[in-house]
Amino acid sequence: MKTVNEAIEFLVSQAKVSEVVESRSLAQALGCVLAQDVRSPVNVPPHDNSMMDGYAINRADIQPGLVVNVSQRIPAGSAPQALQTGTAARIFTGAPIPAGANAVVMQEMAQASEAGVVFETLPQAGENIRRCGEDIAADSIILKAGQRLRPQDLALIASVGQAAVAVFKPLTLVTFTTGDELLQPGQAPQAGKIYNSNHTLLNTLVAQLGFNWVDLGQVEDTLAATQETLKKAASLGDVIITTGGVSVGEEDHIKPAVESLGSLSMWQVKMKPGKPLAFGEVLGKAFLGLPGNPVSAFTTFNLFARPFLLAMQGAKDLTPKSVWVSADFDWLKPGFRREFVRARLENQQQTSYAQLYHHQGSGVLTSTVWAEGLVVIPEDRVIHRGDKVEYISFDVF
Ligand code: AMP
Ligand code: MG
Repeated sequence: MKTVNEAIEFLVSQAKVSEVVESRSLAQALGCVLAQDVRSPVNVPPHDNSMMDGYAINRADIQPGLVVNVSQRIPAGSAPQALQTGTAARIFTGAPIPAGANAVVMQEMAQASEAGVVFETLPQAGENIRRCGEDIAADSIILKAGQRLRPQDLALIASVGQAAVAVFKPLTLVTFTTGDELLQPGQAPQAGKIYNSNHTLLNTLVAQLGFNWVDLGQVEDTLAATQETLKKAASLGDVIITTGGVSVGEEDHIKPAVESLGSLSMWQVKMKPGKPLAFGEVLGKAFLGLPGNPVSAFTTFNLFARPFLLAMQGAKDLTPKSVWVSADFDWLKPGFRREFVRARLENQQQTSYAQLYHHQGSGVLTSTVWAEGLVVIPEDRVIHRGDKVEYISFDVF
């Protein structure tokens, strides 16, 4: 059985990076992964400009307390004349500094009248001017290949004048759930049956990560049906993801079905919830079999499937960032598997304390809704209230 870290490393090492690149408009590229570095063709800002509303002057020509002639008016967006020696130019935030000026006096330091303007105090040369290229120099790299594009990344690309980006074509994930006990939401309750929550879970996790989704629905618990559906799945997308049927019970057909059509290279991880976690290949396509219990499916998707899928998609930053907080609980029975317990933070006297949901069962979906993240309980560890524990916020997923 692999440890959690071994399993993640193994999965990422097995990810074959997709190579199909497409150009997308900025509006269509949110969540996509950059296939090439982005270079800025321009300086940002493109010209020296005023940091505030005021008067552009040449510091060497102007004395405080004397009336100065205002020779031009420069609103943002205009192209100014060179500054006439000994005069001031009325200027507004973002407007280009005229040639010959080397400082801006803020308007609060100036008294304007019909005759001109009088400055009480004067700035140093260079003050209140944003320099050409001070944010981005022309031809410098602003984003690296492998970056998953967030709103601020896309805004940065827009700020250098580019309307489109080269991204990896989003992977297509094919999913199905297994279990004869499952009803679809909307159906009337039936004796012995439960509602299928993993179907919605998979669908929305896939959408959240920006992948394409092909849904093969719910498959009956027989070897033949599982094999048939796996074959179909392999023909329809890049990665196959299933839930349930992955243990070794008589009603669990995922393992033998995958082995009959391809191979499994991993199927258990030393963790809780979610020990059964299968990885392999079906007819040349990557296969991930998540556990059936909904909390296990949620946890293993985020901790294992997510970095694997992002690696396949060409993304570079795969490790979800965690923080260290204080435990607001005792954990007195150490386990040999690493546990990921549903928790949320509460601030007490400038310290964040992790509190645990009262029911940590792997079928208890309410724990994932109450919680805002996972506390990591390392193997063989006892924890006392106040000890530092690692916390992974759901936000990072
Ligand atoms: P399995 O791995 O198929 O043995 O399933 C483990 C547990 O998860 C069982 O209690 C199943 O009823 C439950 N389960 C499996 N698939 C789903 C699903 N799609 N939605 C909700 N519960 C499920
Ligand atoms: Mg089952």
